[in-house]
Amino acid sequence: MDKTSQQLEVVSTGVTDTAGRTLILLGHGSHLNADSAQAVRRHAQAVRERGLFGEVIEAYWKEEPSLRQVLRLARFRDVTVVPLFVSEGYFTNQVLPRELGLTWRGPLPPQGVREVVGGRQIHYTRPYGIHPAMSDVILARAAEVYPDWTPQDTALVVLGHGTGRDPHSREAIEQAADRLRQGGHFAEVQALYLDQEPNVADWQTLTQAPTVVIVPFFASEGWHTLETIPADLGLTGPVTRLGGRTVCYSRPVGTHPTVTEVVLRLVEDSADTGNADTGNTAADLDPDWQAAGETLAQAVTSGAGGLTVGELCITPLPEGGFHLCHQDDVGRADLRAVPLGDLSAWTGRSDEGHHRPIRTGRTLPRGWFAAVSAAEVRAALHAIYPAVLEQAHLWGLGRLPVTPWPETAARQSGRYARVRRAAPEQVAQARRDLCSACLRTPLWAGELLDDAAAVPLPCPEACTLLVSQVRQLLSGEIAHA
Ligand code: SF4
Repeated sequence: MDKTSQQLEVVSTGVTDTAGRTLILLGHGSHLNADSAQAVRRHAQAVRERGLFGEVIEAYWKEEPSLRQVLRLARFRDVTVVPLFVSEGYFTNQVLPRELGLTWRGPLPPQGVREVVGGRQIHYTRPYGIHPAMSDVILARAAEVYPDWTPQDTALVVLGHGTGRDPHSREAIEQAADRLRQGGHFAEVQALYLDQEPNVADWQTLTQAPTVVIVPFFASEGWHTLETIPADLGLTGPVTRLGGRTVCYSRPVGTHPTVTEVVLRLVEDSADTGNADTGNTAADLDPDWQAAGETLAQAVTSGAGGLTVGELCITPLPEGGFHLCHQDDVGRADLRAVPLGDLSAWTGRSDEGHHRPIRTGRTLPRGWFAAVSAAEVRAALHAIYPAVLEQAHLWGLGRLPVTPWPETAARQSGRYARVRRAAPEQVAQARRDLCSACLRTPLWAGELLDDAAAVPLPCPEACTLLVSQVRQLLSGEIAHA
């Protein structure tokens, strides 16, 4: 039986009439792991290549562009936001709506919610992990790691993280496991968890079949899927013999290419709710967006030597279009060409290979260049320095909202809520540690911006890295100076 081809048929896309809409895909991202955002980036690029939306933007909780920045980037007033999370819970029901500026909190209705934020009509959907088609993605992952499984002698373990913080977080996994159980594809199907019961540590007693296929129900490859799970279970690779049984360990569901189709299906399935009234037609280009693009084009073309933004130099090409490279690489003939679609990932690591969750850190890598058309230059700048153009533009208009530290601290919840208790000197230390290595000026801390630059780099609000640094100072994970 060709399980893979049969099971992937379920996904199709009937997404229509979306050319005048912005699609935003939200991921968790990581302060530590550069690969964490890769799955979101790939799904965004796959949707982009399908040409189904006017634009597709990624944003992250822990990286840039951040959730706080992303709505200002939308070129259209009709915006669909899809959390690329595998389950519903604390993040999708509390953190993401809060950071986006939505008033909604709590479990989402099947069609998602619609609200007007900053003049944009936002349609916020449930996460893709709850979609029924995820059962087929699980089957596809199982087929990759063990193509010859038979329903008689193979057990399936759908492995989730689990958290006691939100009872809804298990629903996606339990429902997918139920569907697969009813499908009769395996002798037994178990939903097991890392941090809850039934716990994956007990897989040997909770399953009986001679072969066990474990499929991590995780959104991306990372610390858990690559390190803690294999180490805790004693797995040595995709196939391991353990206690006289065979354990097949697949890659996580979230990185499977067909998740792109699940995302599109989710958008399609949740498209029939009423519209919140923005007073604009759906396809209206946002005037701020147009003005910011024009400002950039003028700034680049008016200076003979091009335009410097942070460590980046943008110069017009004689044949049309623009050349982008590190300012210290101008004139070098040995630079490597990087396509626009790869710019974000390429500049996401420093020359030393370190992850750059905050892209305005003074560590832009060297040795590359990008040649882009006039229509692409804004996207290229965004890939290297997310949201800086839009923020500079709003700053120039005197309309960039600045959020002082106490407001940012008061908004934090969960393990970050303790930053509300930070003393001013602890916040100042975190600022010295991080902001001094960043090209942005922390307006949120009262610093003054040198706006002589063609594209000034204001920081209107403490980033998640700074919030995390303050939390670590408070918990003693890093030492006070
Ligand atoms: Fe940069 Fe500091 Fe702003 Fe973070 S808070 S983006 S480190 S200036």
